[in-house]
Amino acid sequence: METRTVPCSASAREKQTIEKSGRYRVVSCDTDPHNPQFCRLSYEPTYTSKPAITVNISLGDFKGKGQVSHSRGVPRRISATASSQSKASPRKIAESFLKKIAPTLKIKPDLSQLKFDKVKKTLLGSHVLFQQRHGSKVISSAWVRVDIDPSGRVYYLLNDLIPEPLLNKSRKAEESRKPGVKRLTEDQAKEIACAAVEVSKGGKREATSTELAYRPISGIPTLAWRVIVHTTKPRKEWRMYVDAFTGAVLFQRNMLAKAAAFGYVFDPNPVVMLNNTKLENYSQIPESAYLRVALRDLAKTGYLDGPYVSTAPTARRVKRTNGNFLFRRKDHGFKEVMVYYHIDRVQRHLQEIGFDNILNRPIKVNVAGQRNDNSYYSPDSKSLSFGTGGVDDAEDAEVILHEYGHAIQDDQMPGFGESDESKAMGEGFGDFLAASFFADMKPAELRSTVCNWDSVYYSAENPPCLRRMDSNKKYPKDIKGEEHSDGEIWSACLWQLRTALGRRTAERLVIAHHFLLNRKAGFQDAAEALVIADEQLYEGRHKEKIRDIFIQRGILPNPKRGNRRAGASFAESIA
Ligand SMILES: [Zn+2]
Repeated sequence: METRTVPCSASAREKQTIEKSGRYRVVSCDTDPHNPQFCRLSYEPTYTSKPAITVNISLGDFKGKGQVSHSRGVPRRISATASSQSKASPRKIAESFLKKIAPTLKIKPDLSQLKFDKVKKTLLGSHVLFQQRHGSKVISSAWVRVDIDPSGRVYYLLNDLIPEPLLNKSRKAEESRKPGVKRLTEDQAKEIACAAVEVSKGGKREATSTELAYRPISGIPTLAWRVIVHTTKPRKEWRMYVDAFTGAVLFQRNMLAKAAAFGYVFDPNPVVMLNNTKLENYSQIPESAYLRVALRDLAKTGYLDGPYVSTAPTARRVKRTNGNFLFRRKDHGFKEVMVYYHIDRVQRHLQEIGFDNILNRPIKVNVAGQRNDNSYYSPDSKSLSFGTGGVDDAEDAEVILHEYGHAIQDDQMPGFGESDESKAMGEGFGDFLAASFFADMKPAELRSTVCNWDSVYYSAENPPCLRRMDSNKKYPKDIKGEEHSDGEIWSACLWQLRTALGRRTAERLVIAHHFLLNRKAGFQDAAEALVIADEQLYEGRHKEKIRDIFIQRGILPNPKRGNRRAGASFAESIA
């Protein structure tokens, strides 16, 4: 039992607040004998009042135990005691299991209410996620997750879906609404949400994002505006749900985990953001080229130090204890924000696609390490250093990602790059990482080029670029012995792989195959390693496509042409 003392005038409201989440129940409300203007509310967790209900589930070859949710009357958790293997894809397995178990969960067996979200792979197998929809809107926090082991057995299910009887209540409530009652507009919802949060004198409120969704209130989905409100003084980020008809604030929580910090960045650079290839180093860069972004998980030191990046080696580092890192290009500090934001984001992306242990620590970066137009990764100090000749290198996120690519590879295969071809692959991979990461946000004509901003200073190409991903170079005839030039042979293969298999699959294979290389691996070693990575990650589903790309490029010998290479001259191929 817990107690809370509040002014009697506020006791009714406080009781509501305590019981709103459904997790607590107020047991008594008594006047404080020592201070009659105050009331003492006693409350207890609701789960203590009801014993757990478990049910046995038997559906053909699946047997399991379910733990029933008191509020929804259907199992919230199901663990398998017997379940059969399957070779189907995790998504297919999950869908056929959900169809079977739909009557138990009281959802529609055709799964028409479920929207597939993603398959997440971890050491525990595959986790398949679906979100529930009601009509055309999603229901917030109504998810189901099916866990499948590597042999294709369903072993666990976590269910937060709203069962049909509660959806019916929601439909009835909507039908019984008086005709003529108007839905709040987005602006009205924002206004209500902003008014509901407190700020001190001089503080600001700003509603940044809204969406119409269903929010379960006492289990019943209620149409509401989801509004995010940012405040200064105190700095908070409120996630709120405002009833779309009554305007009542149904839910409100501050989601900021740590002191928030914001900065301006180019994403990836002004040439792309403005789609203007005529820019020059001294052009006036308009405000529209800057994007305001959150800088995540900064330490409380006031410096740009976080879990994956530290700008510690930079001279005259910027320090802001109020989280305001809103600099423009002319400001000292802008490049530090660029490097922090872009490396932090690409590292989180690596983790999201399944690699949670590659360079999962702060890399040290000097954003203005040398005056020439050159940047580098040092395998000795494990740090990055960016040059300031021409357009400062750290002003172009594609240069940042290229250099971080070297660091990734060194972390996966320490000392990588002891042969000409492995060095060239290092350059090719850096270009691929940058091009692949930003391709989907770039105008079509820039998509297969990299570093369009850094290069305005020196490139005579149109569009200006450092290198291209779509060269016709063949192996071995176009090898020049210069790693960046030869790297274009490799990056072109990886780029074709992305076109053939899609971004996610290509990136996963490319990163994964680095684990299978050694320090002096050649192009052919790496092509074979990509095939092996595909066997491990995708049961060899893309083997033919992968081999074709490397055969056409001359890197793998062509078995249909007497194992000759596409890129070999006639004399070489008969030798
Ligand atoms: Zn490089």
